[in-house]
Amino acid sequence: MRLDDEQESSNFEVRSGEGGGGFGLPIGMAFGRGGIGCGGIIIVAILGLIFGVNPLQLFGGTDNGSPGGFQGPAPTEQADRTLSPVEHTSLKVLGSTERVWGALFEQAGSHYAPTTLVFYPGGTRSGCGFAKSAMGPFYCPNDDRIFLDTSFFDELKTRFGAPGDFAQAYVIAHEVGHHVQDLNGLLDKVRAQEAGLDERGANALQVNVELQADCYAGVWAANDKNLLEPGDAEAGLRAAAAVGDDTIQKASQGYVVPEGFTHGSAAQRQHWLKVGLDSGDPAKCDTFGD
Ligand SMILES: [Zn+2]
Repeated sequence: MRLDDEQESSNFEVRSGEGGGGFGLPIGMAFGRGGIGCGGIIIVAILGLIFGVNPLQLFGGTDNGSPGGFQGPAPTEQADRTLSPVEHTSLKVLGSTERVWGALFEQAGSHYAPTTLVFYPGGTRSGCGFAKSAMGPFYCPNDDRIFLDTSFFDELKTRFGAPGDFAQAYVIAHEVGHHVQDLNGLLDKVRAQEAGLDERGANALQVNVELQADCYAGVWAANDKNLLEPGDAEAGLRAAAAVGDDTIQKASQGYVVPEGFTHGSAAQRQHWLKVGLDSGDPAKCDTFGD
C-alpha cells in the first residue's frame, strides 16, 4: 500500500489507559477462561474480533458498560506522548477515507462529517460503555468515534501472522464504513427494523450491515487511485475470508451454524469487499437488496 503521500488525519484522540485491557478477557468467557496461551483457539477468536462488535449492538452500551448506555461525554485528554508508527499509518488511512468519502458525499449533494479515531491502551470509556482492547476495533454510534488499541495490530502481525498493511487499513476502513452508515441514517433505520425481530432475523439484518461496511471499505480503496499496490486487493480478500463467520465457527467449534452469523460468511465478505473494490461506487453496496 502506498501511503507516503497521504496526509494524516487530525481527527484523533490519544487516551491514557484506564485499565481493563488485555487480550483474551472476553474470549475467556467463551472458552473457559483459558486466556492467552491456548494457541489456535485464541488465534481464531482474535481474528473473529477484528470486526467483533456490530454497531447495532452498541447503541445501548457494551456488555461491560453501565446499563442504560450512554455515559456522558467521554474524556478527551491527549496523553502526552508521541505517536507510534502504526498510529501514524492509521491516521494516513483515516485521512484518505476522509478525502474519499468527502468527495463521494459532495457528489451526492451532501456533506461528510469525519469520525474521530481514539487510540487507547487497554481500556477506556466510550459512549457505548467501557472499551477494551480485546473487543477489537469498533465504531460507537453514540459518540461518533472509532476505538482502536493498536496493540491489536501488533498481536496480529507478530503472533498471528495476519497479512500486510492493507489488512489493517481494511479494518479501519470497515469501521469508517459504519460511520458512513451512521451519517446516512442506515444504522437508525436498521435498528428500528430490528425491534420486533427474533434473534435469527436480527442476526440476518446485522450481516447486511457488516457486509455493507466491507463493501464501503472496498469503495474507499478503489477511490484512492494511488493507494493499492499489486497484491493488496488479494491480501484484503484473504483477510475478509479469515474473518468470515463460517471460517471462525468451523475453527472454533468444528461446525457451522449459519443462523448464528452476525458478520457474514467468508464468501459473502469477500464478495462484498470485491464489489466495492471493483466498482468504487457506494450505490453498488446494496447488501440489503440481494
Ligand atoms: Zn463491523
